Amino acid sequence: MVVHPDAFRSQMKWLKRLGIQGLSLREAMPFVTGAKAGKVAAITFDDSYLNVYENALPVLQEFGFTATNFVVANQIGGSNVWDLPLGVAPAACMSAEHLRHWSSLGHEVGSHTLDHVHLPQLSQTEARRQISDSRGVLEDLLGVEVSSFCFPYGDETQVDRKLTYEAGYSAATTTQRGRARPQDDPFGLPRATVRRNDTWLHFVRKCVSG
Ligand SMILES: [Zn+2]
Repeated sequence: MVVHPDAFRSQMKWLKRLGIQGLSLREAMPFVTGAKAGKVAAITFDDSYLNVYENALPVLQEFGFTATNFVVANQIGGSNVWDLPLGVAPAACMSAEHLRHWSSLGHEVGSHTLDHVHLPQLSQTEARRQISDSRGVLEDLLGVEVSSFCFPYGDETQVDRKLTYEAGYSAATTTQRGRARPQDDPFGLPRATVRRNDTWLHFVRKCVSG
């Protein structure tokens, strides 16, 4: 969710120490499906905040890890306008330039819809537009295939998973807690949430416990 830059650095150090390679979701998927074997963790950031570019990117580079950044396509260079009604403080999102640089370094850009919507509350036509058009916007911007998707608020139904598959993505993440396994639906992958108050011990447990 939100972690202090020092905590993030320490967490990446722990991954390294545990012999776990931090990877973007697209690079981690062969390990999830069982096509490849090894100790890896997919590192994902939701909402494409500028502070991830400023604080996390240098640390990822230092450790030789890659990560996935899930972008709200209509807020490139904008901010978390979807959060404002909830009283969440405004925060800047990465610009097109930031995203191009992120991508050029080998990190992944995934889609988090056009407007950070609650997909199950939308008509199927609008849900399809949010899922599919956001992919087009990002692919046009970056000139690379966008294969990963993240459901805003973890809000999804089987219909949304199907729309994500039909839009051409290869994987989608939810906010269900847990480790991804070969038998999981690639369009409903669980994740471990790393929180502000997690100690290093919490973090290590999330990395190594089944
Ligand atoms: Zn989000």
